[in-house]
Amino acid sequence: SLSSRISSLNAGGSDGWGIFYKARALKAQGAAVIELTIGEPDARTDPAILDALSASARGGHTGYAVVPGIPALRDAIAARLTRRTGVPTTRDNVLVTPGGQSALFAAHMAACDPGQTALMVEPYYVTYPGTIRTAGARPVAVPTDPARGFLPDPAPLARIAAQTGAASLLVNTPNNPTGAVYPAATLAGIAEVAQAQDLWLISDEVYDTQIWQGQHLSPRALPGMAERTLVVGSLSKSHAMTGSRIGWLAGPAEALAALVDLATNTTYGVPGYIQDAALFALTQGPDLEQRIAAPFRRRRDLARQILGAQRVVRLMPSDGAMYLFLDIRATGLSGEGFAEALLDSQRIAVMPGESFGPSAAGFVRVALTLPDDLLAEALQRICSFAAGRA
Ligand code: PLP
Repeated sequence: SLSSRISSLNAGGSDGWGIFYKARALKAQGAAVIELTIGEPDARTDPAILDALSASARGGHTGYAVVPGIPALRDAIAARLTRRTGVPTTRDNVLVTPGGQSALFAAHMAACDPGQTALMVEPYYVTYPGTIRTAGARPVAVPTDPARGFLPDPAPLARIAAQTGAASLLVNTPNNPTGAVYPAATLAGIAEVAQAQDLWLISDEVYDTQIWQGQHLSPRALPGMAERTLVVGSLSKSHAMTGSRIGWLAGPAEALAALVDLATNTTYGVPGYIQDAALFALTQGPDLEQRIAAPFRRRRDLARQILGAQRVVRLMPSDGAMYLFLDIRATGLSGEGFAEALLDSQRIAVMPGESFGPSAAGFVRVALTLPDDLLAEALQRICSFAAGRA
């Protein structure tokens, strides 16, 4: 029989992607479905990045690459982190990984012994519980309150950390799915709890280039936090490189040196030509990142206009990341009920809030990954559908 470890990854029979699979199945049968589920930029990877990739591969960079990542890329990631956070960072603080997903796994392997508790703030990215279980730890969700913008509250956080003897805390800003950008006071509260409870802080910052309001702040930059923070980064969203599987983990040099052993025994590194493409992408500077982020900002503004014209569906602040988080509680439906009925009657697929933990029941997430006119049509139909239920 299969190990309980592998069977536990899809605990309860739902990995949170049920509506996504159903929408894909309907499409395969020929139905026209407007898909607003997965967080995948609709833009393709920039041709100049693909040229760099192809030149590297044709130039012979097709063999095994050094496991921690090629030094020039680690330097470029370190320089980016230094520039953006003010924390002096060198290549010794950086491990190149196959995407942020792999960095999340590595971070929990470093932070937690088998069976130890890993906290994650709700609502959380769909794979967090499974990733934590894969690393042998026990995921425990920290609930948040929609009335407080789904921001974590230090007092209950400290209580849960103490009660569970937690080894780590996972936070994500800008946040998927809520669109929240954590303010300085929230991060200061989190840092205080991490220090008082001796937690590793795992900071998922894969949306750090998608800020529509306020400023991206990394908790690693707070006093006393650089030695206990592991930052997860990725070029998936910032450079429309989801399929290239390229990201990083950054943190204290000793932890990162030890994680090279994990990489050696699991991924054995990232293809050299992908790393060369990433190096090229990062050395293009913020212009390219802003160009890729621009359509999401425009669509978020468009959505605010459309949703502002009615009162049934309420848009959460949406300060960053490529999603709208919609409060549909006025319809009396759960997030799952709403998403199911919307798919059945309107052929529009959105993610139910429950996929991101119980705090987000009564919400749905819309990805800003379709052309403006199609997104506008979908939002108008979502509003009419909701009005019919309210
Ligand atoms: N973290 C968050 C919050 C995400 O939304 C995603 C992808 O959607 C990831 C991590 C993983 O990204 P990747 O592995 O493509 O870098």
